[in-house]
Amino acid sequence: MATLLWLQTGACSGDTMSLLCADSPSIENLVRKGSIEILWHPSLSASTTGGLGEIIAAIEAGRQSLDILCIEGSLITGPYGTGMFDSYRGRAKIHIVEALARHAGYVLAVGTCSAFGGIPAAPPNPTDCTGLQWDHDRPGGLLAPEWRSRTGLPVINLAGCPTHPATITRSLAMIAHALPMELDALNRPRLFYGTMVHQGCTRNEYHEYNVEETQPGGRGCMYFNLGCQGPGTLATCNSELWNGRSSKTRVGVPCFGCTSPGFPKDGDLFRTDKIGAVPVKLPLGVSRGHYMAYKNLAGAAAPQRVKDREMEP
Ligand code: SF4
Repeated sequence: MATLLWLQTGACSGDTMSLLCADSPSIENLVRKGSIEILWHPSLSASTTGGLGEIIAAIEAGRQSLDILCIEGSLITGPYGTGMFDSYRGRAKIHIVEALARHAGYVLAVGTCSAFGGIPAAPPNPTDCTGLQWDHDRPGGLLAPEWRSRTGLPVINLAGCPTHPATITRSLAMIAHALPMELDALNRPRLFYGTMVHQGCTRNEYHEYNVEETQPGGRGCMYFNLGCQGPGTLATCNSELWNGRSSKTRVGVPCFGCTSPGFPKDGDLFRTDKIGAVPVKLPLGVSRGHYMAYKNLAGAAAPQRVKDREMEP
């Protein structure tokens, strides 16, 4: 059984809400079947917040082993590097996180805030937020790039705003059962960050034939005008639906690229940034030189049923 401590830093609790929604497996199942023992979770522990102090002290003194440390939220280093904008019992949370990380077998950054800085670290970043081991796309956040946990791993980044429920609980299950976990260049598990949001999107045929919406609410693709970042964002959102039912693009909201270190972009999330008539960010791996020629040809070849938006998204 793996012991787990979940600490919130500069967080909105979105990843906790996501955790509570997980059903394959659910966190209850992981606990009931003896895979995980929760030492502390702000929404699941029965004891008051005072109990957390005793657990932290026991871990630091070596009286309690800590297998998995989950951090939810951006790491607040302000004001002036003290971290005291976010403290527990007079101690900056960033110092508590550093101390616990020294004892943990695995450290998981749950959510893009703790992975890369996320929304609190967006310009102008008034509280000097950073990610646990990354600051946006630069290695090194609260912890140095070369930092490693007790088992020799970097911080495992379960990015997302929030992280997909199944990504959280399956990662916990894999760690608890000592299954191998391959990480990508941003230290995200490849198993959950190996497909694009674009893959499995029901608007794909519209995308292929260059049938692009200019206003929200239509059935066409949202890439060219409405800011959709699905073709450049690695996540399972359309290959494994949220709550088994839906995804942003299925309900007409563009993908905001929330699993990427550049999230949130510094601008209108519902508008595609362009150089001239061509989006700044092309689908991953696509050559800029050939892109417009391909789009124009595809548009000319579009079947009438697609142009008429007869296909349900
Ligand atoms: S709406 Fe987004 S994810 Fe869906 S097909 Fe268009 S670009 Fe891809």
